Amino acid sequence: MFARRIAVIGTGYVGLTTGACLASLGHRVVCADVDEAKVARLCRGEVDILEPGLPELVSAGLASGRLSFVLGARSAIAELDDGAEVVFLCVPTPMGVGGMADLGAVESVVDEVRDLLRPNSVVVNKSTVPVGTAERTAELIDRPDVAVVSNPEFLREGAAVHDFLNPDRIVVGSVSQDAAERVASLYARLGAPTVLTDAASAELVKYAANCFLAMKLSYINAVSELCERLGADISDVTEGMGYDRRIGQSSMSPGPGWGGSCLPKDTQAMLQVADAADFEFRLLRATIDTNTRQRQRMVDKVRLAVTGQRTGSLSHTRIGVLGLTFKAGTDDLRDSPALAVCALLRQAGAELVGYDPAIPSDRPGLDSVVVVDDPYLAAKDVDALVVLTEWPQFRTLDWSTLAGVVRRPIVVDLRNLLDPDILRRAGFAWTGLGRRG
Ligand code: NAD
Repeated sequence: MFARRIAVIGTGYVGLTTGACLASLGHRVVCADVDEAKVARLCRGEVDILEPGLPELVSAGLASGRLSFVLGARSAIAELDDGAEVVFLCVPTPMGVGGMADLGAVESVVDEVRDLLRPNSVVVNKSTVPVGTAERTAELIDRPDVAVVSNPEFLREGAAVHDFLNPDRIVVGSVSQDAAERVASLYARLGAPTVLTDAASAELVKYAANCFLAMKLSYINAVSELCERLGADISDVTEGMGYDRRIGQSSMSPGPGWGGSCLPKDTQAMLQVADAADFEFRLLRATIDTNTRQRQRMVDKVRLAVTGQRTGSLSHTRIGVLGLTFKAGTDDLRDSPALAVCALLRQAGAELVGYDPAIPSDRPGLDSVVVVDDPYLAAKDVDALVVLTEWPQFRTLDWSTLAGVVRRPIVVDLRNLLDPDILRRAGFAWTGLGRRG
């Protein structure tokens, strides 16, 4: 394998993982960010996101001299002798006006580096971007000697290093076959199936995959609601469905709705992409609507469990919330369904105290819930405990002790995480999602 000279722009979940993993594969990598304090911390080997294995890879990369961090995209290219052969764009593409992806960061980086790019180099878009962005990026660069490649990233937060180094597939798309093959060769050691295609198809793979996952989750949430009406049990239903290899067992757990930094913005962006192509994507719209409705449905379940009535008032109730992050295993709160449900519970008049193993009590920016550092403190004097994130450690809490701390022994388990028998033995009334009894 040839060791390449690589610049990675953006050191968030995707960029830092990409940089550290490519360095571990033997490449020389310089990572850049606009956040000066973050760059300073990374230069000292301090990683401020919760990703197993990432601090170790960053330390090893720094020690080997194959990985370094600089402020600003231009410095990343200047730092490499003879410039970068490959420049990865890993900057945010948040939801913009009307649900469209905001490509401001991508375009500003391209504008910054275009005159520094060495001949025969490749600009790789790893950020999730709408179809047509590679073409637009090439127009902005406006250099026949520089190729643009789409190489979407599929890693899951909380398992980013594992997923990067053990990918299900690598997708690379470009008008330049040679540039696409050069980018694919960076991952050659990983032995993953590789899809070489045009840029538009590569860009669409990412949106289509994320929208499919969102659709699967919305579908299971809808089936779990139907289970409640029909007296069926969603755990048995999904187990029975999941043995079918065409369906599989993953993304089959009902919950308070999907969220996180990707699915909400990517489903909206895909709707915009479809609209622009004059395609009415009804299935996707229903997927999003089902998710929005799911959040309110969670509040209704809490209301019923606490007041005994569908229209009962949550005013002057105190609710203990277990889990705030958008899923277990991460410290990411962006677009967390747990926080969305908290905001609705708050609007309904409840006072909220929350605990999350990854969120310290002094974490800024949490308005709807008072965060504490101890689950037993979150349970003190509450009218109900509500499970919103599927952290496995909640299963092994001492539920008998919790029963002595709460005001009323009610658990609303919106992740179907806990064992109802253990809870009932401890004296709790337990409600799950789509579960019998
Ligand atoms: P992030 O917010 O964690 O990190 C982005 C980083 O880019 C930040 O550190 C920010 O300071 C930096 N940045 C912003 N503008 C910059 C600029 N002009 N120059 C240099 N640095 C800049 O974002 P993320 O979660 O890593 O996502 C990045 C992209 O990857 C998005 O398009 C996202 O949709 C996509 N993606 C994310 C995931 C995920 O699980 N997080 C998975 C696959 C794809």
